Amino acid sequence: MHFEESDRLKNIPPYLFAEIDEIINKKQEKGIDVISLGIGDPDIPTNTNIIKSLCREAKNPQNHRYSSSYGMSIFKEAVSKFYKKRFNVDLDPDKEIISVLGSKEGIANIAYTFINPGDYTLIPDPSYLVYKIGSSFAGGIPYAMPLKEENDFLIDFEKIKEDVAIKTKIIYVSYPNNPTSASCDINFFKELVSFAKKYNIITCHDNAYSDIYSDDNDKPTSFLNADGSKEVGIEFNSLSKTFNMTGWRVGYAVGNCEIIKSLGKYKTNVDSGIFKAIQYAAVEALNNYEEYVKYNNVIYNKRRKMVRELLERIGIDYYKSDKTIYVWSKVPDGFTSKTFAKMLLDKADIVVTPGSAFGSFGEGYFRISLTISDDRLEEAMDRIQKVIL
Ligand SMILES: *Cc1c(COP(=O)(O)O)cnc(C)c1O
Repeated sequence: MHFEESDRLKNIPPYLFAEIDEIINKKQEKGIDVISLGIGDPDIPTNTNIIKSLCREAKNPQNHRYSSSYGMSIFKEAVSKFYKKRFNVDLDPDKEIISVLGSKEGIANIAYTFINPGDYTLIPDPSYLVYKIGSSFAGGIPYAMPLKEENDFLIDFEKIKEDVAIKTKIIYVSYPNNPTSASCDINFFKELVSFAKKYNIITCHDNAYSDIYSDDNDKPTSFLNADGSKEVGIEFNSLSKTFNMTGWRVGYAVGNCEIIKSLGKYKTNVDSGIFKAIQYAAVEALNNYEEYVKYNNVIYNKRRKMVRELLERIGIDYYKSDKTIYVWSKVPDGFTSKTFAKMLLDKADIVVTPGSAFGSFGEGYFRISLTISDDRLEEAMDRIQKVIL
């Protein structure tokens, strides 16, 4: 028997790095010590207070039943308090906040909530792949917005063609950015708001890396800090990177109440909310974010510094940013993203993510992730140095 996949699934662009994955598997089967700098998943354990809160709440039978797709009030109130304290943004917990099962879920489902087949979506290139694939699943036509280094990897709104903008339903934006690590300031968000207003476009800002930075005087802002942002869009945020909780599947969307309500209407039909004990644990995290964020950033800053020093020593260029858990680096002359990644794997048993995995404008770069222990990271950088110099 053969069961044909749906067209939408079959039409996903082919996975470019199957070949690299196969080499990794073969090496690991032979017992070779492969170090991966490829994965954007924090290695730092979730704080014990957060875990204690989960364990306590897991014992309460009241928490074992279905929860709402919109999220518990106590969770949404904690998000509201966090946004006030962290970003000075006011949010109505009932109308302007919804829980999501990780922002990936929300990002994928916002497309089903608003896209009709044939609608255009604006997608940064390079970017997190869920924007493009999520919107394609819903029948949208993704239109790439190139992010270029000469422009600090910001979107150039003037380059978006008028006839595309007119047909666009959703624009996806994310700063601080994965994979480039670039960030933006409030003026960029203001430009985004006026672009979205002009063409009546739903704006989805993904702020997954809002709390990974080195300079307390230069923290990432929220899209909702821009005047008029709530008229045009929402912001996704997540506990995954901020609190080392990727496996917990808890995030939220905040902003325009109509968009939030519609997303909830869609979600009630496909999920039944987040385990209540997890929402209580998320409240503990959000209420004490300053302590947890500080702890993470000390670790990431040290690792970022180590990686940057080594890259400088061996003459590999990288984009200078102190945000996110990535160092976006230039592939040396004579290589493509893919051949360089393959060379590192062949000769040094090191995995990096080729920039082209994130879109064609990622070509010429590779991404180093700071989510492995200091000593493994040091070992990895040592091995890279040996094959480059
Ligand atoms: C990691 C990441 C997320 C977070 O996803 P979750 O589903 O909340 O774990 C969202 N956006 C980007 C760009 C990311 O890199």
